[in-house]
Amino acid sequence: MEKIQNYIGGKLCEPQSGNYLDNYNPATGAVYSLIPDSDKSDVDKAVIAAKNAFPAWAALSSEKRMGFLMAIADKIEENLEDLALAESKDNGKPLWLSKAVDIPRAASNFRFYATAIMHDKTDCFDMGEVAINYTIRKPIGVAGCISPWNLPLYLFTWKIAPALATGNCVVAKPSEVTPMTAYLLSKICTEVGLPDGVLNIVHGLGHKVGATITEHPEIPVISFTGGTSTGQQIARVAAPMFKKMSLELGGKNPNIIFADCDFDDALSTTKRSSFANQGQICLCGSRIFVERPIYEKFRDAFVAQTKKMVVGHPLDEKAKLGAVVSKDHMEKVLSYVELAKEEGGTVLVGGKRVILDGEYANGYYLEPTIIEGLPFNCRTNQEEIFGPVVTIMPFDTEEEVLGYANSTKYGLSSTVWTSNLKRAHRMAGNLDSGIVWINTWLLRDLRTPFGGVKQSGVGREGGFEALHFFTEPKNVCIKL
Ligand code: NAD
Repeated sequence: MEKIQNYIGGKLCEPQSGNYLDNYNPATGAVYSLIPDSDKSDVDKAVIAAKNAFPAWAALSSEKRMGFLMAIADKIEENLEDLALAESKDNGKPLWLSKAVDIPRAASNFRFYATAIMHDKTDCFDMGEVAINYTIRKPIGVAGCISPWNLPLYLFTWKIAPALATGNCVVAKPSEVTPMTAYLLSKICTEVGLPDGVLNIVHGLGHKVGATITEHPEIPVISFTGGTSTGQQIARVAAPMFKKMSLELGGKNPNIIFADCDFDDALSTTKRSSFANQGQICLCGSRIFVERPIYEKFRDAFVAQTKKMVVGHPLDEKAKLGAVVSKDHMEKVLSYVELAKEEGGTVLVGGKRVILDGEYANGYYLEPTIIEGLPFNCRTNQEEIFGPVVTIMPFDTEEEVLGYANSTKYGLSSTVWTSNLKRAHRMAGNLDSGIVWINTWLLRDLRTPFGGVKQSGVGREGGFEALHFFTEPKNVCIKL
């Protein structure tokens, strides 16, 4: 059975303890590889390697750093088929999705930040005859990057690329649920000759490896994506140490559909925003609010189309949904369907586990599920489920739906469907979320600020926001 290895100081290596954890294939429910069960000693070793590499990496010209990152992007593209297959096997998502989204985006992340540093600039504040100020930006040192399982290589590289581009060295931890493509990335880094210690990848459990990264005194900056309660734990440790933190956390995003929308577009996009990646995207619109005049028409069409969505194994090209990521997660999602029923909801479609044939019989498959008849403030409508489960309810006025939309502790993204331009602007201004999509969903420009308000996070990723996050400004004032 393949043993994943840590990548420390430019070398692939075993965990110091020699211990390994099982890595499951969610499509079959079988263990197919082993993950290093790393501990503090591995993180310490990675931090030393990163610290040693930092002065030379930070001193490289932007052009040289760009060269390394572009080479990594090229190699990711060259290996697209293998990486996509590995991602689907590790995560359960359809292969067509890994090929079309996850892996191409990982390459784009490196390419985007490789070129961004060539266009970055610093500020100058002119005080006329008195003085001149200029602000320089310096990399911080060793950055800790911790990522989740839903978009494994996509989100891992979304952190690592800007950290490296700006001259930091990195100690990174992918999710222990989906470690494989991070391991393959470490092989790519070796192939392109990334200097030893610039990027270090330590595999293992959150409460061991993740917690050690968070509390490590030599890691002054933490970029984390994951659940809100993990973010709270990280903040509790890192804030008193005055670490710089970027926390991208959970969501419970509203999808608001007004009667004057482009019905077909709203319907087909809602299918995607509800069930893409088995509903395991932090940006999925899990609460659907439909204006009353079209409520029944929309609901019935949405239910009819959802019934036709094929759930299948990741290699099945017809499958719109693959497996959810783990047995625990499948059970958590099913428990929310039960909760929804207890809270008075009606399951219009789905709600059950799907058992496939043959080698896939023990995989973790769920039906796409739509639930109606729940109040906006019940637990099902307030807590993040993070699976292929959405709720749907009618509304009458803009004010009413804004109240529903803004009622959760989360504030990551919102979607609004309307052809009324004034209303679109009004809604965009009044929704409590870091991202608002009007008449679209998950349309991404990597230059835009990405992140949430309230308990969906602190700080922003994307574009120059990330370049600034991974650098410290230093103002120099010269008296004339
Ligand atoms: P998680 O919080 O359980 O784990 C995320 C990462 O943190 C993993 O690598 C894990 O090992 C690590 N970790 C766990 N405990 C830790 C600790 N005490 N200290 C440090 N690290 C620790 O999240 P998950 O289940 O992997 O991912 C799903 C969650 O991620 C959902 O809530 C989802 O909304 C969120 N998410 C948010 C975004 C965003 O951009 N806002 C994107 C994707 C996923």
